Amino acid sequence: METVTLEAVSHYINGEKVRGKNDKFGYVYSPSTGQKIATVPYASVEEVDETVKLAKEAGKKWANTSVGKRVEVLFKFRQLLVDNTDKLARLIGKENGKTVSDAAGEVSRGIESVDLAIGAPQILKGEHSVNVGGEINAYSMKQPLGVVTCISPFNFPVMVPLAMSTMAVAVGNAMILKPSEKVPYSALLISDLWEEAGLPNGVWNVLNGDKDTVNSIITHKDVQAISFVGSTKVAEIIYETGTKHHKRVNAFGGGKNHMVIMPDADLDKAVDSFLGAAYGSASQRCMAISVAMTVGQKTKELFTEKLKVKVENLKPGSYDDVSADFGAVISAEAKQTILEAIDEAINEGANIVVDGRNPDVENKEGFYLGATLLDNVTPDMNVYKEEVFGPARVIVSVDSIEEAIQLINDHQYGNGVTVFTNSGRDARKFTQEIEVGMVGVNVPIPIPVGYHNFGGWKDSRFGEGQMFGPDTARFFTKTKTVSERWFDETDSDETNFAFPSS
Ligand code: NAD
Repeated sequence: METVTLEAVSHYINGEKVRGKNDKFGYVYSPSTGQKIATVPYASVEEVDETVKLAKEAGKKWANTSVGKRVEVLFKFRQLLVDNTDKLARLIGKENGKTVSDAAGEVSRGIESVDLAIGAPQILKGEHSVNVGGEINAYSMKQPLGVVTCISPFNFPVMVPLAMSTMAVAVGNAMILKPSEKVPYSALLISDLWEEAGLPNGVWNVLNGDKDTVNSIITHKDVQAISFVGSTKVAEIIYETGTKHHKRVNAFGGGKNHMVIMPDADLDKAVDSFLGAAYGSASQRCMAISVAMTVGQKTKELFTEKLKVKVENLKPGSYDDVSADFGAVISAEAKQTILEAIDEAINEGANIVVDGRNPDVENKEGFYLGATLLDNVTPDMNVYKEEVFGPARVIVSVDSIEEAIQLINDHQYGNGVTVFTNSGRDARKFTQEIEVGMVGVNVPIPIPVGYHNFGGWKDSRFGEGQMFGPDTARFFTKTKTVSERWFDETDSDETNFAFPSS
């Protein structure tokens, strides 16, 4: 058999692409073909330590660079992202499996976080009070933290790293990004663009690796803050380990996002919205709709009837197949987990309305699954309780808006939710009472634009701070408050032992 030598992915450290020195590595696959395309190195404790040292030095200089010069780099970076959208989208497609058009949308949403970061000087303006007592002026300033890290998931190889990290860099920190080992290439292309934009060496670094690499980074004494995005199970580990080591941590986890369809909703619009929001990206979005929650028996029947026809026509395909509605799932293991979740649901009494377990696809080696729809799903079933990160979606029927709100509020996750209705009153009740971080009204995927805060509730996020929006600037800076006075010769030299008061 012919032996193929696989390309070895690099790290990006201090402005250079460097080969890993550790013996440990993993494989990168192209989900569309199922083929191994590269090996990815897992950075060792020593490599982490070396990178942190270099980043710390670079970060000091970057923090002292004028705000105007920093923003100049960001403007260039933004333009380079725009100019390279197609290249980025193809790379995402190759390593993640999502279609190129979906990936291009991801890049454009990522650029929103650069737009926000360009406004960092505005967000970070401090406070100043004159003569708070005894001719003392008081003011506060926001200072960068130093070396910070972002650990990202496979499902948004460009948007999530940009959303997590751009503001951190803009406010003067040095970054170590640990991308998902399943999709290491996009982070390296982002590194090239930072370099071309003129970001000084060492301010932006990419270390590839697995959980051991993550552990070395998040417990390193000179890493000040951790922003994590991934599954809830790992988010919880990162939060616990990071806070135990006295780091600032925000850790974003998984979701189970409901679309509530009220009896007065425009059903055609609800069906079309559900299709894209539920099955787009092979359902591998933390904000994907997983549950259609129909209110009333009639709504359930009409919605299911209309939806079934459209779901049957959805077609998975290669990332570069323009006729595909969505791509392959990330790995053979992920495919197996999704198949098991469907089988378990059927065994527990769910009814399979559309069966996508054996899709008709050209490349049988690719990790493809068709769109599956289950109904007769009840809240005690695992397929309702757990996040299923693939194209198996469920219909749950309830009798009232109160019941819908109660079930959603009882759910472990609280990332996103949406209600489809024509009643302002019901929409208001829903948005007020629902315990979920991001809420839509007739908007299927309520991901806030880059200049609004993003973050789920309950087990969808551990720690405070948002992924983008103005709160990101606060997460990546610390506040210092200065009280200052300038003496003249008439001031008394007397010592006062009383607590200072105004
Ligand atoms: P994952 O948790 O498996 O991996 C995420 C990152 O953590 C990767 O970089 C991985 O190398 C690292 N990692 C994995 N196991 C680890 C461990 N035990 N200790 C330390 N680090 C570890 O997630 P994934 O499969 O890459 O991504 C999909 C998940 O991410 C889904 O659950 C999805 O909902 C979630 N997600 C959430 C958001 C959000 O904003 N809330 C956004 C995107 C994705």
